[in-house]
Amino acid sequence: MALTGLDIYKLLPKTNCGECGVPTCLAFAMKLAQKQTSLDKCPHVTDQAKEALEGAAAPPIKLITVGAGDTKVEAGNETVLFRHEETFYHPTALAVTADASLPEDQLIARVKQINALVFERVGQKIGVGLVALKGGGDAARFAAAAKTVAANSDFGLVLINDNAAAMEAAVKEVAARKPLIHAATDANAADMARIAKENSCPLAIRADTLEALAALSQKVQGLGVTDLVLDSGARDPAKVLADQTLIRRAALRKKFRPFGFPTIVFTASGSPEEEVMQATEYVAKYAGILVMDAVEPWQLIAILTARQNIFTDPQKPIQLDAGLYQVGEPNAGSPVLTTTNFSLTYFTVEGDVEASRVPSWILVVDTEGTSVLTAWASEKFTADTIAAAIKKAGVEEKVSHRKIIIPGGVAVLSGKLQDASGWQVLVGPRESSGIPTYLKSTWQG
Ligand code: SF4
Repeated sequence: MALTGLDIYKLLPKTNCGECGVPTCLAFAMKLAQKQTSLDKCPHVTDQAKEALEGAAAPPIKLITVGAGDTKVEAGNETVLFRHEETFYHPTALAVTADASLPEDQLIARVKQINALVFERVGQKIGVGLVALKGGGDAARFAAAAKTVAANSDFGLVLINDNAAAMEAAVKEVAARKPLIHAATDANAADMARIAKENSCPLAIRADTLEALAALSQKVQGLGVTDLVLDSGARDPAKVLADQTLIRRAALRKKFRPFGFPTIVFTASGSPEEEVMQATEYVAKYAGILVMDAVEPWQLIAILTARQNIFTDPQKPIQLDAGLYQVGEPNAGSPVLTTTNFSLTYFTVEGDVEASRVPSWILVVDTEGTSVLTAWASEKFTADTIAAAIKKAGVEEKVSHRKIIIPGGVAVLSGKLQDASGWQVLVGPRESSGIPTYLKSTWQG
């Protein structure tokens, strides 16, 4: 829970000297609570107060980075239990397994299959971000496999092997990629912590119970490693869900510092469909990193779509810029359709226009990311806003006719839009799925 202005004020010197740039300590405290200033602006704050304030400002779940450069992934830094309370910030990082015991050519083929698991949906790139190399064979084999994976993928790496010698050999090969080391257990904690510390890598810790996990977290932090990822050891879906919920609640509601880190979870073996269901459950609650065997595009598209929905800020719908978009290679005689800038609406319309094979223009009106009927009801998609959008996008210079097709659901706008724009208004289908038939039969007919 964030400190209020009054909580902060109680810790300040209360001399109102003004050296921080505001006239009173109370005003400074209020600014600090709103994150409009920083504590170092007050030269008189005591070390004790500094410690208390900095501790309170630390995120309840630490942000952990796996990988380096443009392809690094981040997990953690979440602040709420439920998405509707605010938003979830860091989408669950998806890792797909590759087996170190595979012959090199098969390992490379597997890695290339994983690399291809990147898709585009509603204008956003979504995909897998990590390759999880599972241990197999001796240290030399595991290290060689890590090197092969790194040479064939830009994704971040998760190295999964409880054998400290094998882990050390593999990390040595790929240390610059800052892999996640999985896992330190009570038995190997000292060695794994040393490897993580020497190579500045994040470290996953695993125990069989939550009590043991909390103790291991404190032990490893005591060894100087503070970039941790928590594995409760559960693989059964019901137990995973219970553990994930308890860990998240303990971190956020109780400020239980041993659990103030993102988690890593694993899907259990089962049918491909079961794996998708497990993965989707773990994305929703509350995996920071999810490791799975799933490698089929249909599996990943389902999981990634769920992730995209869950990690979209509920107060900021996914939207695209207003303006004139083209589908195919439209010309001066091509139809002009209009819709709103809610991405799901636009990309549905775009897909249906594409399916018609009639090159077209789509005029996107800024409705603050709301769908057609919502925008109409809130007066964001009106005769005036559409007429203004026609002018602003320069549609008159692109087409020689003066006809615009509006969604059938807002047919009521046609008279006013005709008056406001001077364009002939054609009422399109109520559902986007009717666009191909409409364009082929009504527009071209
Ligand atoms: Fe108060 Fe510190 Fe600001 Fe002085 S500098 S007014 S003591 S907060």
